[in-house]
Parts: sequence; structure tokens; C-alpha cells
Amino acid sequence: MNFELNAEELAVIESAEQVAREVIQPLARHYDETETFCADSIKALGDLGCMGINLPETYGGLGIGSLAMSRVVEAVAGACASTASAMTAHFLATDSILLGGTEEQKQEWLPRAASGELLGAFALTEPAAGSNPADMRSRAVREDGGWRVRGSKHYITNAKEADFIVLYVKTDAEAGHKGISAFMVPRGTPGIDFSSPEKTMGLRGSTIYELALDCWLPASALLGVEGQGFNTAMAVLDRGRVEVAAMSLGIANAALQASLNWVRERQIGPKPLAAYQGTQWRLADMYAQLESARLLTMKAAARRDSGERFSLDSATAKLVAAECAGFVTDAALQLHGGYGYVRDLPLERYVRDARILRIFEGTSEVQKIIISRALLDACK
Ligand SMILES: Cc1cc2nc3c(=O)[nH]c(=O)nc-3n(C[C@H](O)[C@H](O)[C@H](O)COP(=O)(O)OP(=O)(O)OC[C@H]3O[C@@H](n4cnc5c(N)ncnc54)[C@H](O)[C@@H]3O)c2cc1C
Repeated sequence: MNFELNAEELAVIESAEQVAREVIQPLARHYDETETFCADSIKALGDLGCMGINLPETYGGLGIGSLAMSRVVEAVAGACASTASAMTAHFLATDSILLGGTEEQKQEWLPRAASGELLGAFALTEPAAGSNPADMRSRAVREDGGWRVRGSKHYITNAKEADFIVLYVKTDAEAGHKGISAFMVPRGTPGIDFSSPEKTMGLRGSTIYELALDCWLPASALLGVEGQGFNTAMAVLDRGRVEVAAMSLGIANAALQASLNWVRERQIGPKPLAAYQGTQWRLADMYAQLESARLLTMKAAARRDSGERFSLDSATAKLVAAECAGFVTDAALQLHGGYGYVRDLPLERYVRDARILRIFEGTSEVQKIIISRALLDACK
């Protein structure tokens, strides 16, 4: 397995790390406390070309591989997890067009999305359909040469800020998951009501909304082929899980680095906290989990680029990395004692931001279902 990065990829990572450090990280606390969309951070990523790092150069992407992309996502998440969430939700939208759209649709939307001119959202989840999207109730019915769409979506990242939403609904109510199709919904489409942003535990600078749908879309809004929506969404989520794993590494690494600084400075009795063996063992556990998760993420990223099936790899990386971020951020807060609990330091934000990683883009339980199915299928 090749984990090497070329000079161009290293340069992109270096620029992204610099912007993460100098622009995004200083804004993170503001977005968290004001619970406002991380617009300036997303703009900075757009200016850098990083809103298209998931796309090939043909469609305006930077032409870097998934391994380099996951390093960029990690750097952004370490600085501000909300920004990483808004960015990766945009990738779910553009991946949907890349994998499911016609050539004309790719040309129409992707270059401007890659440049940061347009922001995307990915709308799959509904109140009654989260882990099992086939339960969705939103429908599109042919009407007046186009489609009448009725239903609702919830917890949709970027929905109100987005210039377009990739909307997954049923075009055949009787066909289960084979009846799901995707549609392009440009900003300003009449008949879509957005809720106020949901009040969330973490990722408070990455806004999520409920959408009430009663709108008409032209025939050209159908993304690619009718009935292919479920396959597209699952392939998109396979890719997205590598990005969630990378986000997990970013938050966990930020928490570990903060802890390494803290335990050397904090005096407990006659010596620094770092001198106690209990502290050293905790740090070693944090590091070991982080490095295991990192290797799995790198493996999934490399396999994503290889063209082979990588559902098993991305589910495993997402499961392990998300659980790792939970463990490492909690351990980091514990090492900081009361200083970790109050909001002067970002430790409590790391804990809050990391919690969603075990839930979105498939819960940890859903990843276990994907993993065990792949293992059992391989035995047939
Ligand atoms: C901050 C945030 C951002 C989000 N962004 C987006 C977005 O941009 N686009 C979008 O479409 N969605 C988005 N979501 C939705 C997210 O993907 C779902 O919340 C997630 O998939 C889980 O679905 P659910 O909430 O309906 O939980 P449920 O599916 O109701 O799950 C509840 C519990 O049941 C468990 N469970 C489910 N099935 C099984 C099973 N077969 N066996 C055992 N246990 C099971 C789950 O693991 C979980 O513990 C977002 C959610 C949040 C909170």
C-alpha cells in the first residue's frame, strides 16, 4: 500500500495547515459561542482551492489524492471542527454530482463548487429515516413536465447557506431503496421552508436545519438516472466516511497536543503532572489509539484512490477513528481537571465536537453492520 505524497500534495497540505493555524483556528471559539455559520473559514478554504479537493482536475479540483485530502481535513478539524463539518458536507453534495450526475450536470455545477463560489448541502436524512434511508417518506411525482416534491428532511448541514442542495427522495414508493432518486435543488427554489438552526451539543459553527418541502422541480433537476439515488448516496457515504475519520484524527490530535503541553506545565505537589506514571500511561493510550486510527484512515484513503471496493475499509476507519476521538478528547479533558471543564480552554469544545462523529454518516452501530456484512459475504 502506497502512502507516499507527491510534491504538489505536500504543498497543498502545507498551505491548508497554515490557513488552519492562522485564519480558521482563531475564529473557532467565536463560531462556537455565537452558534453562527463559519462563513469566513469556509471562504478561506475556497480561496485556497480546498473546497474542491475531493474532485478531479477535470471538474476544477486540485487533483490531489484521498490521502492528501484527509490530511487537509485533519488540519481543518484540528483548528475548527465546525468548519471541517461544513466543508465535508459540501463534499457529500459534490461527490453526489460526481458519482451520480450526467456529464452536463458535472460541468454545470462542479467547477464553481470546487472554486468555493458555490456551497453545497446533502439532504438524505428524514425524521423517520436516519440509519435506514430506505424508510424515507419524501416523494417526487411527475407533474407538468417536471416533478412535484413533497416531504421533509432534517439535520441537513449547510442547508440554508447552500447555493444548491442535493436532495434524495422517492420517485417510486413501492420499490424500496431502488425507488430513491436524487435531485438538484438550487437556492431560491420556491416551496422550501427552512427551520431555525437546530441547537446542537457541538459543531455549533456548522448549522443544521429541518426542511419542509412542497416544491416543483424541472425535469432537468433529476440527478443522473431515476432510481439510482440510493446507490449514489451509499457510494458517496463510503467516500465521506474517510473524511469523518480524518476529522476524528484532527480533533483527537488537537486534544493530545494540548494535553502534552498541559502536563508539562501543570505542577501537582513537587513535580509536573507529566512525571506521574498514571499520566504517562494515559498519554500512551491516547497516542496508541490515535495512531491505530490514523493507519486505518490512511489505508481507507489509499484504497479509495485504488478504484477497488473500499466500503469495509472506510467503515472500519470511521468506526475506530470516531470512537478514538471520543476516548482521546475525554482523556484530555480529564488531564486538564477543572481547567478542561471551563470554557477558557478548547478542551470541552473538543469533547462536544467529537461526540457527533459516532453518529453522523452512519452511527458506530451502522459501521459494525457494514463491517460484519462484508466479512460474512467474503465467507460465502
Ligand atoms: C450535526 C449533524 C449533522 C448532520 N448532517 C447531515 C447532513 O448534512 N445530511 C444528512 O442527510 N443527514 C445529516 N445528519 C443526520 C445523521 O446522518 C443521522 O442523525 C444519523 O445517520 C443517524 O440517524 P438518526 O439520527 O435517525 O438515528 P437512528 O437511525 O434513529 O438511530 C438511533 C439508534 O439506533 C441505532 N440503530 C439503528 N439501526 C440499527 C440496527 N440495525 N441495529 C442496531 N442499532 C441500530 C443507531 O446506531 C442509534 O444508536 C446530521 C446529523 C447531525 C446531528
